[in-house]
Order: sequence, then structure tokens, then C-alpha cells
Amino acid sequence: MPINLISDTVTRPTPAMLEAMMQAEVGDDVFRECPTINKLEAKAAAMFGKEAALYCPSGTMTNQIAINVHTERLDELICETYSHVYQYETGGYGFNSGIAVNLVHGQHGKMTAAQIEEVIRPDQDWLPRSRLVVLENTCNKGGGSYYTLDEIKPISQLCKEKGLRLHLDGARLFNALVETGESTQDHGELFDSISICLSKGLGAPVGSLLIGDKKLLKQARRVRKVMGGGMRQAGYLAAAGIYALDNHIDRLKEDNAHAKSLGAVLSKSSFAENVRPVKSNILIFDVKAPYTADSFLEVLKGKGILAVPFGPQTVRFVTHLDVSAEMVEQVIGVLKAL
Ligand SMILES: *Cc1c(COP(=O)(O)O)cnc(C)c1O
Repeated sequence: MPINLISDTVTRPTPAMLEAMMQAEVGDDVFRECPTINKLEAKAAAMFGKEAALYCPSGTMTNQIAINVHTERLDELICETYSHVYQYETGGYGFNSGIAVNLVHGQHGKMTAAQIEEVIRPDQDWLPRSRLVVLENTCNKGGGSYYTLDEIKPISQLCKEKGLRLHLDGARLFNALVETGESTQDHGELFDSISICLSKGLGAPVGSLLIGDKKLLKQARRVRKVMGGGMRQAGYLAAAGIYALDNHIDRLKEDNAHAKSLGAVLSKSSFAENVRPVKSNILIFDVKAPYTADSFLEVLKGKGILAVPFGPQTVRFVTHLDVSAEMVEQVIGVLKAL
């Protein structure tokens, strides 16, 4: 088996997680009769001090539903250039919601309140209406960078003052929280809606949650249905999510530590440069000529290590549940020998 650093989405359920899935009590969730999905939604809402949550097939769907419920056509969302909602959701903000995007050029995928304030549009017929701000925590393309509460508070305050909604794409939020020690409740207070992925570092095979207040989630449920995301006995999958929230949060520290060890080796290597600061479980770096990202990845593949290009000279490594400490040592051995 190769060592797979392609993404933290590649994890397989552990035997204990599979066991929890097999034991799940299920019903038809479109009729809200799946006890396991109801339990997962209640659990996630309580974690963030919110009223309700919605189980969805993917993080793209939770983000797209959030964008849809917060905006109307002719609105715009404000996000950083690296944001998943802008880069990797097939332009869904336009397709699903008929809105525009207003990009902030931040640092490592992060924006400040001042940068957001600068781009908010005045009320004019010929301008889209600024309506929603989307933060991503941790930021994938930003190399796993994260926002702390102190950085989010002024943004949340600004949004309240300006009448903007604030959504968190928290696909990997827990990778940040295990670093900062901050609470889900404190983050919950600052956002109108939060999306978390169960299928990334948390290790569930499928699933994401949209979390917010009851009124918002009532509409979100309708939008999930029209997007084709109303599932039936998906409690078997939700059971994996409950198991993940109960058992796989604290261990994310290991993934973050593994990425940091790899980053330290790359920083000292002769073939890598511009190693982005390693804050969580994502590691982005450039390879020097004559390597290209593709040729470098080909060499790694020959040694049983898989990863993806993130640009012509840029490579991304992601650590996760299925990358053990021994595998990290093996990768370090390979990198040192190049
Ligand atoms: C993975 C990811 C998502 C959602 O992706 P899906 O593959 O649709 O589950 C959303 N935001 C970020 C930052 C992600 O990394």
C-alpha cells in the first residue's frame, strides 16, 4: 500500500467506526425519522451552541446551501482568493444562487476586517449588493493556515455593523481548534452558519454538517432537497460521523505534528523552497528546477508516496488518520535521500 498524502479525504473507516455503522438504528431522513441522523444533527448543533444542524452528502453542498440561504440574486459574497467556495466548487455561487463574488487578496488565504471593509460596496443600482462573507478555517490553499478567535471577532463585528451575514467553511476547523485550544461554542457565537466536514481529518467515509439557527436551517433543509441531497437511511453514514466526533478530534494533533515534521525536513532540503508555514495538517511547498511538481511527484510515486501538484512547481502533502508515525518516518527517510 502506498503512503497516501493526496488528501485527508482518502481515509477508510476504522474497524471500530465500521462497527458503529453496522449497529446504527435508521429510518427515512426525508421524513426526519432517522434517529441516528437526528442524533448527529443535535450533537453538532449543541457543540457549537446553535439551535440546529443539517446532515449533507458533502462539504460543497453545505457551503452551497449556506450561500443560497444567506443571499438573493444580484447579491455578492466576499471571500479570499484562495477560498474553496471560489476555487473548488465549480463556480456554484453563480450556478446555484445567481450571485457574484468579490475577492480579497489576503495572506495565506486569510483576510482582515480592514480588508473586508475596503471591498464592501456602496448601495448603487449598478453594483452587486455585498451580502455575505465566507471565511475558511483552516484554509486549504493557504497551506492549512488558521484564524484565531481574536482575528475573527473584528470580522464578525464588522459584519454585524454592515448587515452582512458571516459563514464559516470549517471543513477542517478541528485541525485549528486542537492547535489553539479554543472552543466550538466560542466560534459558534461569531458566525451565522458553520459548515464542518466529517469526511476529512475526522475520518468518516461521507458527510458534512451545516449548523445555524432554526429559521435558517428550515430553509436550508428545503434547499438541500432541491439540490437532490435528501437522503433516506443515511443513518448508517451518520453513525460514522457520530463516532468521528466522539473519537477522532483529539488525535488531529498527531496529523498536525506529522505535517510539521515533514515541513521541517523540507525546509532544510536542497530541492524544496518557499515551504509555507505549517500550521496544521497541510504542507505546501515549491520544488526547485530541474524538478517540476509532476516530475517530483513521479519520483515520490516510485518510492511508494502519493501526493498532488498544486501548481507547476508546487506540491501539497496532507497528513491524516491513515498516515501513521512510521509512515511519516519513511517519508522523511525518502526526502532526506533525494
Ligand atoms: C474539502 C473541502 C470542502 C468540501 O469538500 P467536499 O469534497 O465537497 O466534501 C469545503 N471546503 C474546504 C476548505 C475543503 O477543504
